[in-house]
Order: sequence, then structure tokens, then C-alpha cells
Amino acid sequence: MKRIFITGGAGYIGSHAVKVLGEHGYEVLTYDNLSTGHRESILYGDLVEGDLGDKDLLRRTLRDFRPDGLIHFAAHIEVAESVANPLKYYRNNSANALNLLEVLAELNLSNLIFSSTAAVYGIADEIPVKEEAPLAPINPYGASKSITERFLSDFSSARSDFDYVALRYFNVAGADSQARIGQKYNNATHLITRALKTAKGEYEKLQVFGTDYPTPDGTCIRDYIHVDDLAAAHVDALCYLFEGGPSAVFNCGYGHGYSVREVIDVARKVTCVDFSVEDTGRRDGDPPALVADSSKLRRTTGWRPQHDNLEYIVRTAWEWEKKL
Ligand code: UDP
Repeated sequence: MKRIFITGGAGYIGSHAVKVLGEHGYEVLTYDNLSTGHRESILYGDLVEGDLGDKDLLRRTLRDFRPDGLIHFAAHIEVAESVANPLKYYRNNSANALNLLEVLAELNLSNLIFSSTAAVYGIADEIPVKEEAPLAPINPYGASKSITERFLSDFSSARSDFDYVALRYFNVAGADSQARIGQKYNNATHLITRALKTAKGEYEKLQVFGTDYPTPDGTCIRDYIHVDDLAAAHVDALCYLFEGGPSAVFNCGYGHGYSVREVIDVARKVTCVDFSVEDTGRRDGDPPALVADSSKLRRTTGWRPQHDNLEYIVRTAWEWEKKL
């Protein structure tokens, strides 16, 4: 029975990873300051309520738990907020990750999975994006993750006994099939969540940010991945490290995308609500298309997604949204 330490296990993606690990028989321990996470989202294992800035608590917790592997989810994730308050992002997403790494170094712990993001690529030249594409983040959020990837890469080069996997997430969406857990933010900005909240009547209309992009219908294309498939990628990445795989970086997406208009059509169909949509100008920093080449993840770890279906993604998100 392997022990897995999870920072941010009370958050949206983290809680789905805790669930999948728990279902596979792992012993999990969540470390979360509950700033955006929720205690009731943790379906397996215990919670240590703590901040990554509290190095003493982190050290004591890890010394006691002695994990075989770790997943580092805890981070801030809003692009617009990162532009307005970059230091908050560099503190939590970069400096706090450094705290974690220093404690891992002290305690000789290895096998870390890091939550990274497609935002590290900025505006990619080639679609689908491969892991070798240049890292050129266009906002502090992407930069804060890219810097942490660099910490990991340099640290693993210096320490032959430390291995990690960075998973670069594309557009994560959907919820638990039984609607026990899902996305729960105060100020949701993501397309699928905004569309469903509009269908629920929380917003008067859904704005489409840009209709003049060089795409077939003029709206942006994204690779939407179901959160349970993403959670499973973390388990596969841990197994890969446990079997002796070297440090690696993998894209996490399905390898094909949908336009904003296509997502709206599916959201209207799933909810049976013909909610209002307003075409508006482009949102700053949105690349026209972002689609993952995830062949490396599939080939190297054996990851096999189960929910590559936009309607399923939107339906599970809708069932969750209705419960909120
Ligand atoms: N989008 C939109 N209206 C919204 C929210 C998002 O048109 O209310 C668009 C956004 O401009 C982007 C796509 O939907 O082209 C996905 O945006 P989201 O914020 O969900 O994820 P991102 O790709 O920015 O991580």
C-alpha cells in the first residue's frame, strides 16, 4: 500500500485525484490551507490544514507520513488575477513550491507529480502542441508554473535520487459521475462553468470573447479534458515513477478541440436552456487554438482516457452545478 501526499487535495482537480487514488487503494494524505478548497471534497484519507508557507508544519507532516510519492496541486489558477497581482502568484506557485522542494531534499523524498499548465507555452506556433515546444508564457500565472518546472528540472539534474513528472493540463472540465465533487469557485471564469451558470440564471448572458479568430467559426478552440481522466493521468504518472521511469514532462489533453460555439451548443443541449449569448471582443491573452499532442503521455505511461466526449464532460459538470 503506497502512501501519497497531496497538496491542494481539497481543490477541484486535487479532490478528483484523491478520489481516484483512494479507489485504487492508495493511502492518501491531503495538505491544504482551505483557501479555495473544501474539507468535504476530500473523499479519502486525512487532511492536514496547513499552508505551504509554513515550512515547519510541512516538514513535520512529511517526516511523520513518509510518502512514497507526492502530488503538488496547491496553487492559484486565475490568469486575470495573476496579471493584476503577480507577486501573489510568484509567492504561492513558485516560492512555496521551492519550500516544498527544500523539505523533500532534507528528507530525501522523491517521486513528485507537479500540476503544470498549457499556459507555459503561451501562444503556441504549432497545433497540436508537443512538449518540446518553446516555453513562452504570456501571463504571470503561466510564468509562475514555468519557473517551478525549471526548479524541478534543475533539482532533479543535481540529485540523481529525485524524480518528478510535470503534467501540463489543457482545459480541465466536468465533475464526478455521481456529482459528489466538482468545481466550486466564487468567481468562475471558465467557459463551461460560465455557460452552465448562465443556464441556471446566475448570469443574464454568456459573452463570447472574440469571433474573428482564424478558426473555422471564428471562436477559440480548446482541448477540454474530463477531470477524472486527468486525475487518472496522475496515478499513471506515479506508477511510471515507481517503476523507475526517469523525470519527464507530459501534456494532458485529448488531442482535439472544440470551439466556443461548439461548447455553447452542447451546453444548451445538455441543460435544455436556450440561454442568451452575446458576441464581444477578444479577451487579452487568449491564443486562437490550444490543443495537446498527448501521444507521449499515452505511449510512456499507458494512459487511456475514458471520457473523451464533450457531452459527458458538460453533463457531469451540469449535474454538479445543479447541486451547488
Ligand atoms: N470564453 C468565452 N466566454 C467566457 C469564458 C471563456 O468566450 O465567458 C472563451 C475564452 O475566451 C477562451 C475559451 O472560452 O477562448 C476558453 O476559456 P477558459 O477561460 O474556459 O479557459 P482558458 O483556455 O482561458 O484556460
